[in-house]
Order: sequence, then structure tokens, then C-alpha cells
Amino acid sequence: MLSVGIIGLPNVGKSSLFNALTSGSAAVSNYPFTTIEANVGVVAVPDSRLAALERLLNPSEVHPALIQFTDIAGLVRGASRGEGLGNQFLGNIRGVDALAHVVRCFVDTRVAHVPGEVDPARDVDIVETELLLADLEVLDRAIEKRRRTWKTSPRQFASEEARLSGYREKLAAGVPLRTLDPDEESQRELKGLGILTGKPVLYVANLSEEDLQEKAGVWEGRIRQSRLAPSPLVVTLSARLEWEILELQAEERREFMEALGLAESGLNRLVRSAYELLGLLTFYTIAHNKLSAWAVKAGTPAPAAAGKVHSDMEKGFVRAQVATFEQLREQGGFPALHRAGLLRTEGREYRIQDGDVVEFLFH
Ligand code: GDP
Repeated sequence: MLSVGIIGLPNVGKSSLFNALTSGSAAVSNYPFTTIEANVGVVAVPDSRLAALERLLNPSEVHPALIQFTDIAGLVRGASRGEGLGNQFLGNIRGVDALAHVVRCFVDTRVAHVPGEVDPARDVDIVETELLLADLEVLDRAIEKRRRTWKTSPRQFASEEARLSGYREKLAAGVPLRTLDPDEESQRELKGLGILTGKPVLYVANLSEEDLQEKAGVWEGRIRQSRLAPSPLVVTLSARLEWEILELQAEERREFMEALGLAESGLNRLVRSAYELLGLLTFYTIAHNKLSAWAVKAGTPAPAAAGKVHSDMEKGFVRAQVATFEQLREQGGFPALHRAGLLRTEGREYRIQDGDVVEFLFH
């Protein structure tokens, strides 16, 4: 399962956000929510198509697509040198696929803010600098280790040497590696090396409730003034308000959000943005009266998608019968799709598309 690490300086609202996300997923969707460890939670991806299929098919079980969130504490100035919880922090953050960087935009003199007054761009740069320094160290060590191999077989490893040296140059110039827009293979390489600035990131501007309606754009702009994180993806919300929304009953919640001019909760927007950031799409299966949504990377071939459902289905993959969500909705069920001749047969080469409804055939 793909995972998003929640990072940021202390006292910016990371834990508040994490708790709202993980309990919100249970409260809002009725789907089982699991805490894997105290700071790791699984969150259901909001999905209106899944809700429509549920109404249509009336299955006995519904399983939404899931992504994992980890609350990663311990980032302070000097974390890259192993200060504070530095080492544990670095270990936790290396394992995740993307980062949600919470930035303090609420002013509250009762909640201490280590670097001083509220200044989102400065905070972003402090955090980015720690990540850059940690990466520089990792690359220096990796390059040191490979140097002998590069010397003995220069031809074979020329491209690797050029790549790693190129990464190092960028980092030394203060450029996070995600700005290189790494393709999937480079992303794997960077992840394997334990590089942090290669991970896709979104910024969560944690606002005061009062600022949510009128001033969200102002705070977003202040994050964008960061030197080290140009043109970032920003989600504005108030972690505290999200809590208040969760405590309301469905009807009250709708009225409350309408009064605030909110079409959708901040948590939903955050989860959907993380989903996009990770480059995920959704396909659906219906088997034994169980309706499931699955998240896969765009471009995933059918056998690997089958492997999401069950590893045997990947090994024994024969073919897939595929229709679109719209076709299923129009026809009202699988038997009708069959009768209408709308189920396409696709082989091993087929790449799953967003909204596909799939039946896998396997040995
Ligand atoms: P973390 O250290 O980043 O995990 O931050 P926490 O989630 O533990 O929050 C730190 C403190 O800030 C707590 O006392 C929260 O109640 C408070 N806090 C979090 N979000 C908000 C907010 O939107 N407004 C205000 N006024 N306080 C908040």
C-alpha cells in the first residue's frame, strides 16, 4: 500500500491532522479503520463512484481504496545531524512514498513555535534544508562506496556515475531532487538510496478557523514565497476545524459546512490530493458479492493489478474482462454487461485505466 508521511516542524498540527484523518476515515465512511502502529493509519480514499456502485449493486461488503498515513515526528533544525529524534525520524521518512508537509499558518501565542513568529516560507525552507543536508550525506556515502567499482569498470558504470554525481551537484546547489521530475525508474533509484527530496510533496497550510474563508489565498501565497520549494501543491485547511466537523452528525455537518462555504472537508481534499500526488488511479472488482476499489499507479499492467487483489491471480493470470464504470452504471450489473456484449477481453499487455470495472480470469 502506498504511504504518505506527515512531516513538519514541532507544534504545527501534524498529530491533530493525523488523528482527524484516521478517526475521520472511520467516522465518515463506516469502513474499518486500522491503526497499524500508534503513528501509522490507513485511510479510505473518498470515492463517489464507489458510493454509486454500492447503491446500484447492494453488495454485502464494500472495500474502498486505501492509502497509509504516517505521523513522522522529530524534525527539528539539526535532524540531519541526528539531533533530537533525528535518526528515528530519518528512518521513518525514508520508508514513505510521498510527503505531506504541514506548515503552521495559525497564530496562537499559547502554542509555542520554535523558530519564532509564524512565517510559513521560512519554516518550509528550514525543513527543506534539513532534507537536503540529509540527502547530501547519503549521496556522499553512496558515491564513496561505488567509487572503486566505477574505477575498475568505467564503461559499464559511466551512466550511474554521471547520474549520482548529477544528483549531488543539484543538492549542493540547494535544489530538491523532486524538481527534476524523476521518471519511475529514477524514483525507484532515489528511493532505494534513501533520498528524501526526491519524494513528491504537498504542503498543508494549517490555518486558523477565522482565516479559512477570506485569507486562505494569502497564506497559500506565503508558502509559495519559499526559496527552496517553488510552485508547490498546497492544500489549505484547519486541523482544529476538521475535528469539530467530525464530531457533528451527518445532517448538522452538512449545514455547518454550507454555512462556512465549504463544499468538501479539508481531509477529503487532502486525501484526494495525496492520491493525485502519488499518481494513482482506481479500478473496481465485484466478486462473491464483495465490491472493492483498488488503487494502482497509472500505467500498471493487468497482471500486476490482479496481484493487488490476490497474489495467485497475478501468477495465474489468463485474461481480464473489462468494462467502464459508466457502462456498468448504465447496465445495472454484470449479467446485463455480458448480455449487452460490453465486456472487453484484455490480455497481459493491457494497462488498467481509471474507472475500469474488472473481472480477472486466472488458473
Ligand atoms: P505537532 O507537534 O505538529 O504534531 O502538533 P500538534 O498536532 O500536537 O499540535 C500542537 C498544538 O497546536 C496543540 O496544542 C494543538 O491543539 C494546537 N493546534 C493544532 N492545530 C491548531 C489550529 O488550527 N489552531 C490552533 N489555535 N491551535 C492548533
